[in-house]
Amino acid sequence: MRHLKIGVKMTLCFAVFALLIVCACFVALYMSTSALLEQMLRDDLAFAIRQISAQVERESGALIYEDETPIAPEISYYVVEGSGGELFSHGEDITLFDDEPFHEGVYTRLTRYGDEWLILDSDPIAVETGLIRIRAAIRCTTNQRMLTVMRQVFLLSVPPLILLAAAAGFVLTRRSLSPIRAIISSAQRIERGDLSERIPAAPAEDELGKLTVTLNEMIASLENAFRREQRFSSDASHELRTPVAVIRAYAENLCDQADLSAEARASARTILQECCTMKKLIEQLLTLTRAQEGRYELQPERLCVADVFEGVQSAMTELACEKRIVITSAVREDLFLLADQSLLTQLLINLVENAIKYGRPDGHITLRASAEGDDVKIAVEDDGIGIGAADLPHIFERFFRADAARSRNGCGLGLSIAQWIVQVHGGAIDVQSALGKGTTFLIRWPGAIPAGTAPKRFGG
Ligand code: ADP
Repeated sequence: MRHLKIGVKMTLCFAVFALLIVCACFVALYMSTSALLEQMLRDDLAFAIRQISAQVERESGALIYEDETPIAPEISYYVVEGSGGELFSHGEDITLFDDEPFHEGVYTRLTRYGDEWLILDSDPIAVETGLIRIRAAIRCTTNQRMLTVMRQVFLLSVPPLILLAAAAGFVLTRRSLSPIRAIISSAQRIERGDLSERIPAAPAEDELGKLTVTLNEMIASLENAFRREQRFSSDASHELRTPVAVIRAYAENLCDQADLSAEARASARTILQECCTMKKLIEQLLTLTRAQEGRYELQPERLCVADVFEGVQSAMTELACEKRIVITSAVREDLFLLADQSLLTQLLINLVENAIKYGRPDGHITLRASAEGDDVKIAVEDDGIGIGAADLPHIFERFFRADAARSRNGCGLGLSIAQWIVQVHGGAIDVQSALGKGTTFLIRWPGAIPAGTAPKRFGG
């Protein structure tokens, strides 16, 4: 029940509630009808006994029955004197109960040959100077039939009634939940990072309307805070550029001086190295803030994937050689895609740089690409140290480094930038890795261009 959607739950509640109400109404109706019918039969018998007793007279010293006023034809009866002699009887059916002892003033239900009967035995009735007793009987079959029909009507009408109630409940629930669905889809878009998104105003000023207004206010204040934070990192990165460039220039100058002691030269080299790391961090931060502010203008063009791979390979060869890592590629010459060249190159360089950084000496890196339907699948594989399962879900987070000790020369922004580049092109990036075995980054890039086709524009 817990995993059911709220609409389904409410529909089920409607149906169960409707079923309970219909059952309760039917039971009440059935019982009151049955009691009413029983009462009517009893009244008929009592009335008949009064009528019968009124027709007993004494004539010439003996009691006789004057059959003048007709008794209801469905009632069978007999009249006996106090001594036990029968005065009169009507209807053959009354003989069915001859074996039944006389219970004075009592209604009895009896079944004979499948039919149900109601019998009333009168109290001794004083007529003139004598006493008589009357037994009257009436068949209950008609009432039984009416009750049977009632039960059948109930059983036949309940399923469609419940279905109707469930359908009405479903429609009503859907309608009343539609503002919540709008809130959910807006919240999902916001969760994907679009803080400028707002939940459409609810049509009524009810609880949902108030919830929408409150959520929109909350998102607006989050957006403001986020923009302030973005502006801060953007301003800070800008401001840091110049001092870092100056320090770097001085450090380079120092390193070039011939009369420097070995100790001072080592310090100058360390400063220079740290300056390079700082410079890279500042550039990456700027790229990310520009990306988040949506200030990056994509320049998509038709690119030959093999050419892009070649460019990345030659750019990274020197770094790879330091660890004797071999970079190879596997791609068809006629595979093209639509991309911003500098971003695609930056993406692959980030991944290959990591593959070298976290690769083992004498290892291998392979760049693969192939068309898959309308997409291009790109893979960057290495046989390096791999990433632990606990770290895998976090590696695309900003400033995340799996293990500071092993993440040398890194600031944890490379993969965030890689992810942004893929997403801004409408693709998706994923990673598979096993500790000690290696890592593969898999990219789905939309818009494979078959050889010889004119390029499409993004969004077109
Ligand atoms: P960094 O600058 O620290 O490399 P990234 O964002 O590029 O930052 O990577 C985040 C973390 O993911 C790295 O610190 C590293 O632990 C892990 N990582 C990324 N690529 C690889 C890889 N090819 N092999 C093993 N670990 C990797």
